[in-house]
Amino acid sequence: MNHSDSEIVASILAKEGYETSTTPDGADLVLLNTCSIREKAEYTVMQRINEMKHYKQVKPDMKVGVLGCMAERMREDLLKQKKVVDLVVGPDAYRSLPFLLDEVDGGQRAVNVLLSREETYGEIEPVRLDSNGVTAFVTIMRGCDNMCAFCVVPFTRGRERSRDPKSIENECRDLVSKGFKEVTLLGQNVDSYKWAPQKTNNSGEQQAERGKEIFDFADLLALVANISPALRVRFSTSHPKDMSDKVLEVMATHSNICNYVHLPVQSGSSAVLKRMNRGYTREWYLDRIAAIRRLMPNAAISTDIITGFCGETEEEHQETLSLLKEVRFDMAYMFKYSERPKTLAARKYPDDVPEEVKGRRLQEVIDTVARTSSVGNKRFIGSEQTVLIEGVSKRSAANMFGRSDRYTTVIVPKVFGNSFLAAGDYVSVQISSATASSLQGEAIAIVQNG
Ligand code: SAH
Ligand code: SF4
Repeated sequence: MNHSDSEIVASILAKEGYETSTTPDGADLVLLNTCSIREKAEYTVMQRINEMKHYKQVKPDMKVGVLGCMAERMREDLLKQKKVVDLVVGPDAYRSLPFLLDEVDGGQRAVNVLLSREETYGEIEPVRLDSNGVTAFVTIMRGCDNMCAFCVVPFTRGRERSRDPKSIENECRDLVSKGFKEVTLLGQNVDSYKWAPQKTNNSGEQQAERGKEIFDFADLLALVANISPALRVRFSTSHPKDMSDKVLEVMATHSNICNYVHLPVQSGSSAVLKRMNRGYTREWYLDRIAAIRRLMPNAAISTDIITGFCGETEEEHQETLSLLKEVRFDMAYMFKYSERPKTLAARKYPDDVPEEVKGRRLQEVIDTVARTSSVGNKRFIGSEQTVLIEGVSKRSAANMFGRSDRYTTVIVPKVFGNSFLAAGDYVSVQISSATASSLQGEAIAIVQNG
């Protein structure tokens, strides 16, 4: 999400004549795009802001801006606390960057943290940053209306709004014409994407057309998947309370929509889920997993887990471990609960699980996922996987890396027959070995589509 926002900002500033640089050395403007999701993320940003002092000493007219969720959360306090910061811009205010920069040039410090109910940056064509030329992120909606008790996102990113499907389609078509082979559609809760067809009223304003059917996430997935069979489609994040069979059916009937679902569970205990205000129970979640397995038997499933949420008992933690053993996730992002200001949990429940207990539980969760995922990967030894090559392996220049449609990293030798594999190739790979996080194998053939 943040990366995608940086690409929007780069596009807005490119129109003002700014070019991106790979280092702050010698830059006229440094913008730090920030995340507030956990305290640690904010701590890292604070350190980064401090580092900027050094660059400003070398180049005193350099300007420093803080963008994104931390800008939204801390607002003017950030200017007061960190003298090095010249401007603070929230996630819905990027279009005002040129005006704010003018203010800064005039010797003022500038802030715009207004949240919007409409802003989707829909028609802005992002400048692709750090691009491999193969995979790209496309934001389909902004904000979140869910109010999970632990989460700061509704406060920093505002109300949920969906982007016009036409502009999403145009962006994806443009990516295909530039040679990209994979798009990941992004939103905090993609399953609640909805677009009411619009018409222009007598005053020239856009208005939802009455009686027209809502265009939902399943419709959007089908639209993007039909652009080209050579374009792989991924998405993130699904919400268990909203993930419909309709979405799974569209996935199952389009071979270029990847066999992969990221479905954050957070906890295996219904009582904890209730305190988290997630809107589903353990049983509901397991029913969604059963639906995925029924409609897409080969799909990889990953999740997010939080350990040590307010009031979590040992029994409730054991319920999370038992859910992990039952579902056998292919992968998980796992976190210790970190209390965030203003959230429902911060206002309602004491953060009462001791730090060492959170840490011990996290380790047990990590170990359990590692056991199930390594067994999961081993069953692919001997199979043939279609891999989209993304680039040269970080470990060895003799190898390329790519991903299977289940999102597993696959390592293959670069040399293939008399030539070399290249980023953007779809390759059929015979898998010969597996670890918990990757597969290794030999390329057998270059194939046309993913
Ligand atoms: N919108 C997505 C997730 C957004 S945040 C969803 O609903 O699933 C990504 C992950 O960060 C969350 O799934 C959660 O596991 C974790 N997270 C969010 N707030 C957190 C907090 N206060 N402490 C620890 N982890 C948190
Ligand atoms: Fe946060 Fe919940 Fe919204 Fe995800 S769905 S962004 S966890 S409030």
